[in-house]
Amino acid sequence: MEKIKMTTPLVEMDGDEMTRILWQMIKDELLLPFIDLKTEYYDLGLQHRNETDDQVTVDSANAAKKYGVAVKCATITPNAARVKEYNLKEMWKSPNGTIRAIMDGTVFRAPIVVKGIEPCVKNWKKPITLARHAYGDVYKGVEMKVPGAGKAELVFTAEDGTVTKELIHEFQGPGIIQGMHNLNASIYSFARSCFKYALDTKQDLWFGTKDTISKKYDHTFKDIFQEVYEEEFQEKFKEAGLTYFYTLIDDAVARVMKAEGGFIWACKNYDGDVMSDMVSSAFGSLAMMTSVLVSPDGKYEYEAAHGTVQRHYYKHLAGEKTSTNSVATIFAWTGALRKRGELDSLKDLSDFADKLEAATIHTIESGKMTKDLALITSIENPTVLDSREFILAVREELEKSL
Ligand code: NAP
Ligand code: MG
Repeated sequence: MEKIKMTTPLVEMDGDEMTRILWQMIKDELLLPFIDLKTEYYDLGLQHRNETDDQVTVDSANAAKKYGVAVKCATITPNAARVKEYNLKEMWKSPNGTIRAIMDGTVFRAPIVVKGIEPCVKNWKKPITLARHAYGDVYKGVEMKVPGAGKAELVFTAEDGTVTKELIHEFQGPGIIQGMHNLNASIYSFARSCFKYALDTKQDLWFGTKDTISKKYDHTFKDIFQEVYEEEFQEKFKEAGLTYFYTLIDDAVARVMKAEGGFIWACKNYDGDVMSDMVSSAFGSLAMMTSVLVSPDGKYEYEAAHGTVQRHYYKHLAGEKTSTNSVATIFAWTGALRKRGELDSLKDLSDFADKLEAATIHTIESGKMTKDLALITSIENPTVLDSREFILAVREELEKSL
């Protein structure tokens, strides 16, 4: 068979620990035999980040901006223990944080739905994609403990010296205060990324805030979304038969629980933090959750939502067998390859991505899976495969379909 050709390289961001092992297996068994794989390779493994003073992370993000599509392996975010373990010069920042800041993007997380791994919410038939705003609010909050009676005010001093004040509360006794902010520019980027991704994946977009209570803060989110929708996306949504649906956050939560799925749910930072954990655990497994960072100008970085699976890596190093789930990492590659195919009009490449996804799902649905899924599946007597065996089983399915 002739290998599928590519024209523009994918930006490949390699990573750490067990996912780095899976990364190589996926390339060797599922990609390189079938595709004339063109990538621009960046090694984001912690050791190389340390050697380059983390410049490699910045370079990789800039490459993603240049080429438009990247695929990333999970990476270690160093903490004190990692600084020691890897003898780091510094406690380097989270690569995902660095990449997100450079691409100015929003992260969309979606579960991979397969028969046999049923969501806890029985009416959820299709994936729910969660988009979390990743800037500000309580995450950039400033807090104070009020020791006793006194007056608290919000004070804004403009560059020209003009002062605007708002009374927070006349305290009669001890209490607490929190100041938080957001930026219109960030909310615009968030809105554009959401509408763009909705069009891209042909899904409705839902958004909810507490604008009835927060008449300026949350209302600004609502207004900016509405403005971006009307001015930039309404026509395109109509053509595509899609809807933008705004409702109060509590109403959104109630409706999500009763819905079938198949839409994107945009959330403010805190709501997204809480709801993404609810949605992902209800769908079954972190190992079946994909993640894509989408910038407001339409650049994409695909990855798995889980981490580097450290515990499995140490088993692997000790020469023991591991049964680590590679599905979300496979889907990071297929997401990126499909997008590259679309942008470069390479139908064979997009078709290959579809076939690899179908082969992966079919492998699980036929009862062959890794241990994490075997523990939760409704399929009787599943065959538990180790990390490599699972990838080889997917290859066998894939070869049948090519
Ligand atoms: P993790 O790697 O997601 O793993 C936590 C546990 O979840 C694992 O020990 C395993 O449970 C289960 N698990 C996760 N993914 C799995 C998979 N593909 N197959 C089978 N089981 C899976 O989270 P962590 O251990 O908290 O973090 C490890 C490192 O990852 C940290 O250094 C963290 O900084 C990094 N991290 C990176 C990203 C990213 O790059 N996007 C995201 C999160 C964390 P059992 O041990 O019970 O089998
Ligand atoms: Mg959380």
